[in-house]
Amino acid sequence: MDLDFLQSLMGGEEMAAAETAYQDIWVVGEVSGEGLTPATRALLGKARDMANALGVYVKGVLFSAPESAGSEMISYGADTVYLLEGAGLESFAVEPYAEALARQIESGRPEIVLFNATSLGGELAPRLAARFRAPLFTHCMDLGIDEAQRALLATVPRLGGEYYEILISPSLRPQFATVEPGVLPAPFADPYRFGSVERVTFDDLPAGRVEMLGPYAGGLPEPPLSRSRVIVCVGRGVQDTEGVELARRLAAKLGGQLAGTRGALDEGWISEEQLVGMAGRTVRPALYIACGVAGAIQHMLGIAKTECLIAINTDPKAEIFPYADLGVVADAKAVLEELNKKLDNTPA
Ligand SMILES: Cc1cc2nc3c(=O)[nH]c(=O)nc-3n(C[C@H](O)[C@H](O)[C@H](O)COP(=O)(O)OP(=O)(O)OC[C@H]3O[C@@H](n4cnc5c(N)ncnc54)[C@H](O)[C@@H]3O)c2cc1C
Repeated sequence: MDLDFLQSLMGGEEMAAAETAYQDIWVVGEVSGEGLTPATRALLGKARDMANALGVYVKGVLFSAPESAGSEMISYGADTVYLLEGAGLESFAVEPYAEALARQIESGRPEIVLFNATSLGGELAPRLAARFRAPLFTHCMDLGIDEAQRALLATVPRLGGEYYEILISPSLRPQFATVEPGVLPAPFADPYRFGSVERVTFDDLPAGRVEMLGPYAGGLPEPPLSRSRVIVCVGRGVQDTEGVELARRLAAKLGGQLAGTRGALDEGWISEEQLVGMAGRTVRPALYIACGVAGAIQHMLGIAKTECLIAINTDPKAEIFPYADLGVVADAKAVLEELNKKLDNTPA
């Protein structure tokens, strides 16, 4: 349609206002190995839903990424993808990355800019929010849209996940947010979606001040229980330290962590940091395997958001069973031993 004709239909002032307004949702993505990280795909799916609610576009941003990653962004919901490149952007360095993204945001004027709460998002989002004097919501567990105010609704954890707050910034734009990887559902890819991939080249970016020497070879501390996707929990019913060791081995094999009840804490099998429940941590894993756990309400309060609960208990009337997705009436140590054996024999 002819732009002058469109302008006459809308009226000149509205058109001018629309040109200067902030609009669209941007997703700053990340690539690992062959393609987008799972968290980037999930973020695009969420951005797509929110953009549909607002009637705007989703735009993806990638640093020094191949064209194929741009196409992948489109298949997960982006309409346009900017591939930022130039001297200084070959590998991550805070100063050139932040400068390139800031310039892109200045010219594109998005109303929302989303990052994953990864090292990249954690470094860039605060710097950009400070630069634009804009709101930043960090480590969000969910996102939504207040359509009336065209504002982001950010669900953020407080006190290590003890409770959640929904935050909003009604007037300041752009709105920046980082989202905890793994909390958003994975969207479906649509390889037939149409969109454009544009290369944006910068030739005068500041040099990074940190020199990358290589990946860190030392062991990393365990992440907090509240972030663990798999938890194997021991209660008094695992009987002894041998039972606890079996649970710890299973947790490690499943890429998860060991936790325990007050009963296990009193036995000296776990630390305070590993206690789950009213007096301990609140967790929301995808899988929680409760071994010899009675299911007292003070414990169950801490696992109310668990996606799949498996309970192993010798007492068929144990309180935990009505909450469980799968209940196993058996000796916990025997089941743990069997599971460990099965996983030992499973090729990695
Ligand atoms: C103010 C307050 C706060 C509390 N906060 C917490 C909290 O944050 N977290 C918490 O966990 N508790 C908390 N408690 C304690 C809670 O009420 C329970 O006492 C505690 O959770 C019980 O721990 P347990 O399930 O390990 O032990 P038990 O109650 O001793 O249960 C052991 C279970 O193991 C089963 N069992 C026995 N043998 C076997 C076997 N061989 N194989 C399989 N199963 C077997 C039994 O049938 C039983 O169900 C709190 C209590 C109070 C009063």
